[in-house]
Amino acid sequence: MYVKGVGPQRAKHLEAKGLLTAADLLAYAPFRYEDRSNVKPLDELAPGEMATVLATVRSAHLPRFRRRNLRMIEVVFTDPRGGRLVGKWFHATWLDKVLEPGVRVALYGKVDYDTYAREISMLHPEIEVLRGGEDEGDDSLHTGRIVPVYEAAGKVNTRAFRLILKNLLDRLPELSDALPSHIRSRLKFPELAPAFRELHFPSAGADVRALNAFRSPAQIRLIFEEFFWLETGMALRRGQARAEPGIAFNLTDRARQQVLRMLPFKPTTAQKRVVKEIATDMAAPVPMNRMLQGDVGSGKTIVAAQAMVIAVEDGYQAALLAPTEILAAQHYANLRRIFEPLAYRVVPLFGSMTKKEKEFARRALATGHASIAVGTHALIEEGVEFARLGLAIIDEQHRFGVLQRQALQQKGVSPDVLVMTATPIPRTLALTIYGDLDVSVIDELPPGRKPIRTFHKTKDEIELVYSFVKREVDAGRQAYIVYPNIDESETLAVKAARKAYEELARDVFPTLKVGLLHGKLKTAEKDAVMAAFQRGEVQILIATTVIEVGVDVPNATVMVVENAERFGLAQIHQLRGRVGRGADQSYCVLVTSRLNDNGRERIRTLVDSTDGFHIANMDLRLRGPGEFLGTKQSGLPAFRIGNLLRDIEILELARREAMAFVENPPSAAELADATRYIREHWQRRYGLALVG
Ligand code: ADP
Ligand code: MG
Repeated sequence: MYVKGVGPQRAKHLEAKGLLTAADLLAYAPFRYEDRSNVKPLDELAPGEMATVLATVRSAHLPRFRRRNLRMIEVVFTDPRGGRLVGKWFHATWLDKVLEPGVRVALYGKVDYDTYAREISMLHPEIEVLRGGEDEGDDSLHTGRIVPVYEAAGKVNTRAFRLILKNLLDRLPELSDALPSHIRSRLKFPELAPAFRELHFPSAGADVRALNAFRSPAQIRLIFEEFFWLETGMALRRGQARAEPGIAFNLTDRARQQVLRMLPFKPTTAQKRVVKEIATDMAAPVPMNRMLQGDVGSGKTIVAAQAMVIAVEDGYQAALLAPTEILAAQHYANLRRIFEPLAYRVVPLFGSMTKKEKEFARRALATGHASIAVGTHALIEEGVEFARLGLAIIDEQHRFGVLQRQALQQKGVSPDVLVMTATPIPRTLALTIYGDLDVSVIDELPPGRKPIRTFHKTKDEIELVYSFVKREVDAGRQAYIVYPNIDESETLAVKAARKAYEELARDVFPTLKVGLLHGKLKTAEKDAVMAAFQRGEVQILIATTVIEVGVDVPNATVMVVENAERFGLAQIHQLRGRVGRGADQSYCVLVTSRLNDNGRERIRTLVDSTDGFHIANMDLRLRGPGEFLGTKQSGLPAFRIGNLLRDIEILELARREAMAFVENPPSAAELADATRYIREHWQRRYGLALVG
């Protein structure tokens, strides 16, 4: 659709921001609103208040006594009543080209009273030059009303957005309102077209405070709607999964006895509880779709092993998929040992295996000679077939995408699926991303664990850190020193780790055995280093984040994280979980450069807490959901108007309404309409695969 005000130039900038269609533009919500309908004259401003003012530039100058390098500019503004206000900006001397005497502006900022100069001022106010250029519309669009403020898209500034949206809304074609009408009227939501109008150009007298809190009726409706379709899609998918016939595993006495024979230790209460939840799911005639959440070291592996026993004792196979070879190798070794008393055949399937080895493993699985497969991505490749896959388990599930989960699932006929994660995801996010999964939580660590003690040191204290490491190693323990990926790149991290390895092995710890582990090593080399560390022959392991997940060496008691400011909190928490696995007191040392306030708060969170859920919540708050979840793979949809931090109650409302709607639609036709609508409009964005 052609939108007036969008030429090829602007279209390019808009496209770069993902604004391709009229619908994208309509959903491009202002991030703030200014009440310019009734602005206060300058002489009525009160110090301390946030205010919008309209004024004219009188003069701009660089103050005499300005400190070098600050490059401060001061601009004197006046208004028709003779009021005066000084705007001050640092590092913005270019402003004096824009703010020539006579230019009219709108300023938004906090009002200060400078007692020394005895004048009203604003420090770094936001500024909008009110210049009615042809491509910016006339003044009435930008003043004399509640105006929307948009985030610029390249050269398309807030004024241009106002004009574009005004034009779009003036010529808005009939919008069909897909939100089920009984929900809309019960919740007293405005209709769709008026909602968009109010979103962009609120009527006179609208509550500006509510608008800025994203709680005007129009905003609530649009946020609700975005969440509602996601949740309806989830509910439909969940319903489909439920409707499929699955395997009803027999929970036999023999299976129970086998579990008891296999268990190497007494399970915690939490482990027993989640095993029961899983067993109940497995016995039900619909496919299990369950997520097992448990902090690092909470003992998820043995829970998975018990589920495997149920499957194998009933004549089925089980598969365990892990994100890295190091972790998969460890699981393989572990499960072989655990299942030794039961004489289960466990086969590995790793990318690094030779063709012949893989062939051998594949045949064992296809014929049913092996009951259990442990592997990496090689497990979900084409050509891997199972005789009777009944249980698919995915470890560290946050490292995989939805498609990989499905790929493993499709190796069987509606097998039960258990995904495991140690990245504790705050409840609302979990609801949103994994809304189609049931969740079990292990909220208790195995007995006898001492909480890990965490310290923060700056780079200039590194010698202290090294001597601490040496003391621990001399006392018979082992240590990790980990380097972060830099700008998502492992190559640079490998470089840093290699360099550190050379220096530390030669100069700092010449008498100790130091090993190096990173993703660029050949598999055999990795295995050799890991095995040596496991046996205690390597005392200090210098590594990149390849060791982040799952690695379990109980004698390691020190985790040094270099450049800790570059890691996400949840990631450091994972790394820290590599120690504290035995009975000895363990330590985590976070080494950083000088930090800003946000950085300091992040590090303090880790020093003060070992609770993965608390840490995840803080991380989410300090970084926002996008950064928190990192990759696109995480499956977090990019919301346009909704915001998971701000709009949690609306999300929960939408979820309740969506579930009620799917379970109990007013008519079959309306449900069919909704399904079609989701398929047409939301499927691609939300990655919701709906069949039927
Ligand atoms: P994670 O949940 O991080 O995957 P693991 O399954 O690797 O944790 O378990 C961590 C360590 O705790 C392992 O060494 C495991 O053998 C041990 N462990 C697990 N459960 C118990 C328990 N109930 N009692 C004692 N040790 C346990
Ligand atoms: Mg694990």
